[in-house]
Amino acid sequence: MKKKKFIFVTGGVTSSLGKGIISASIGVLLKSAGYKVTIQKFDPYLNIDPGTMNPYEHGECYVTDDGAETDLDLGHYERFLDIKTSQDNNVTTGRIYNNVISKEREGKFLGKTVQVIPHITDEIKNSFYKIAKKNNYEIIITEIGGCIGDIESLPFFEAVRQAKFDLGSNNFLCIHLTLIPYLSSSGELKTKPTQHSVKKLLEAGIQPDILVCRTQHSLNIEIRNKLALFCNILKKDVIESIDIDSIYKVPLLMKKENLHKRVLSKLKLDNKPIIINKWNKFLKNLENPKENLNIAIIGKYIELHDAYKSIAESFTHAGVKLLCKIKLIWISSDNLTSKNIDKKLKNINGILVAPGFGSRGIKGKIIASKYSREKKIPFFGICLGMHCACIEFAKNVLNIKNSNSTEFVKDTKNPIINLMEDQKSIKIKGGTMRLGSYKCKIKKNSIAHKAYKKNEISERHRHRYEFNNDYIKIFESKGMIASGYNEKLGVVEIMELKNHPWFLGTQYHPEYRSSVLNPHPLFTNFIKSIIKLKNGK
Ligand code: GLN
Repeated sequence: MKKKKFIFVTGGVTSSLGKGIISASIGVLLKSAGYKVTIQKFDPYLNIDPGTMNPYEHGECYVTDDGAETDLDLGHYERFLDIKTSQDNNVTTGRIYNNVISKEREGKFLGKTVQVIPHITDEIKNSFYKIAKKNNYEIIITEIGGCIGDIESLPFFEAVRQAKFDLGSNNFLCIHLTLIPYLSSSGELKTKPTQHSVKKLLEAGIQPDILVCRTQHSLNIEIRNKLALFCNILKKDVIESIDIDSIYKVPLLMKKENLHKRVLSKLKLDNKPIIINKWNKFLKNLENPKENLNIAIIGKYIELHDAYKSIAESFTHAGVKLLCKIKLIWISSDNLTSKNIDKKLKNINGILVAPGFGSRGIKGKIIASKYSREKKIPFFGICLGMHCACIEFAKNVLNIKNSNSTEFVKDTKNPIINLMEDQKSIKIKGGTMRLGSYKCKIKKNSIAHKAYKKNEISERHRHRYEFNNDYIKIFESKGMIASGYNEKLGVVEIMELKNHPWFLGTQYHPEYRSSVLNPHPLFTNFIKSIIKLKNGK
């Protein structure tokens, strides 16, 4: 364990300052310096994972290759670092307590009183180190969710305090992210909240090594001096994190502030040059689009864009690759009707029908699918989006009455979308969907094949319902083909329409695999088709 270096990223007394982006940005810089890096997130809530939470509570639930339902920050980690994360990269208080209580029942602590300290804190520390033991990472960044001072975060901060002693000071680093508010009436930046954050951290026995200060305005030398003096840190360890229009610019802002140099120096690691050309190219393209497109996202959680984080970011990645600025137009499926659709989808170049659960908003999604099909507007349906497109096709093209999904009408006569066989006996909700990566064969001469340029792919899933194979023949006879299929499980993975510029639905979630350096081929191909159409080609 000795040689592994641990960086803990903690949050001050203000929430939502962007610890995930700062952690990911440090990761990008260290990876670009040639170090093997991973990031993990510890969340203080009691759910075992965010899989059972409403997106309004917690934003999107991100899914890893191994089928873990995780915090959306893991999406940032994968997108920024182009790495794969796993269940080990996201641990909650719920999981920690569950592990400890199971061990207690197994008799692992026989004779002892099981307590928060040492049993919960030991379990947290073991979870910190688990990822390092299994893999050959040199640097492990650990983001501690929540804020210093929250009751529920206390065991995590205590575990971080103890970790310094387990690891040794050359292998341990605490970065503290705080807010520097700006008072517009007096035109002043205020350091007091940061001073109090650090005091709170000191109460927990942790002296931060580096301060990252989120601010609307540049920190002048006096402010930096003041922060250094009152927070017991060197002036060069006060790092400014100024508000910026794109999260993808943050790694370079951190580089400009020499955050990587301070980290490497404190961890006694060589200050190797940062090779970040591809990232720079991405930013250059981001700033110089040649096309402007409007894409409608039809969903039912649209008030909170974080609910569709990976989809939005996938559009950014693919758009940048094609020098195209994509404006996402968020449309609530609850309010979409055949009467207002013309107005709502005016000036739209493409439509994405989003994933989701339950029957609310389904009508609007089906109306949007019909509109795209008939008006030949490029259409992308993800998971529930694919289900809606299939139901619409069955109803309006195949004229199959009572076409539906058993998710919405349990005993529908024509279950185009049906509960998967192995889901029928499942009663427990948490972690029981079809989750994680599965292989899929791609049909030649299809949109999917043109996009992937591969005969077999692997993509991540999160669903209970699937396309009913009894209807494949009739669908295909009328031009909607199953262009992706998992032979082992016998399930349809992609449905697409012939004689349409681009109409495709996936049972899986391609958005979980898009990254800055590797945009997803389906998103790229979708945008490409829109650009072609727009330019009349
Ligand atoms: N509710 C659908 C299912 O469980 C779709 C899920 C989704 O869109 N991820 O199959």
